[in-house]
Amino acid sequence: METRFEIYKNGELFKRPAYHQLQIDGTTKTKYFPWRFKTKEEAEKILNSCADPSLKIVEVPKVNIRDCIDWLESHGVYLSIYNGVAEPGYYADDTLLICSNWNAEITKKMVKFIEENWDENEVALGWDDEWCYCGNCYKAIRTSPDSYSWEPYYIWIADCELLCLDCAREDIEDILEEYLNNSDKAFPSDLIPEIEKIGFTCFSEEDYCEIHETGWHRGQDADPKKIEKRIIEVLGNSYEYIFCIQGQSQFYITWSAFVRRKKEDE
Ligand SMILES: [Zn+2]
Repeated sequence: METRFEIYKNGELFKRPAYHQLQIDGTTKTKYFPWRFKTKEEAEKILNSCADPSLKIVEVPKVNIRDCIDWLESHGVYLSIYNGVAEPGYYADDTLLICSNWNAEITKKMVKFIEENWDENEVALGWDDEWCYCGNCYKAIRTSPDSYSWEPYYIWIADCELLCLDCAREDIEDILEEYLNNSDKAFPSDLIPEIEKIGFTCFSEEDYCEIHETGWHRGQDADPKKIEKRIIEVLGNSYEYIFCIQGQSQFYITWSAFVRRKKEDE
């Protein structure tokens, strides 16, 4: 049986503060992880650097996560299981993300067990109304904001499917089509470097890339329809354009227009 090496302090599993997670209200919450290692050598290395005689290494059997999933499902708990997470800043590329409504009383002990037995980058638990599948790679993408500056790491594609931006990057010209010459839609900011690679440049009547603001504060009244009109006035019909989000805030968004000479005119 596969085993793990855990560090205990005075008979209790030792937990270290791992990172600070930003909450939607702007405060931070410290997440703790148990000190657990795949090899005894790794555990010893940490123990030797601590100089705390009350710390001890304990070898424990590693439970298969599939047994936990089977237990939950056999108790009527609905799960969405993702083999990998595409959302930046969350877990790892190959994290197994298990989502459900964890408020159900029956799941509480299992939640604690999973959290204590797997590193979050190995197995993570999420809420099923906050995550969805990418229609191409089936990795998890977050559909619920986690901060004021959060921007979706996905786009909607024609047949009402979500596509993560990692997948969108691979097919950028096709994805682009729906957004081209359309001031009602804006491309996500993460894809700006991609459209610059295929020949788009920021449309600006200044020396720098103009970033427009639309929002609730005084003066934040930029209108994509007006910029669209201006692009056509200045460049004529030989250019195509796309609007891109530049940033997101609590009460406003910032955006720019990008242009590229149409191919038939080259
Ligand atoms: Zn994807």
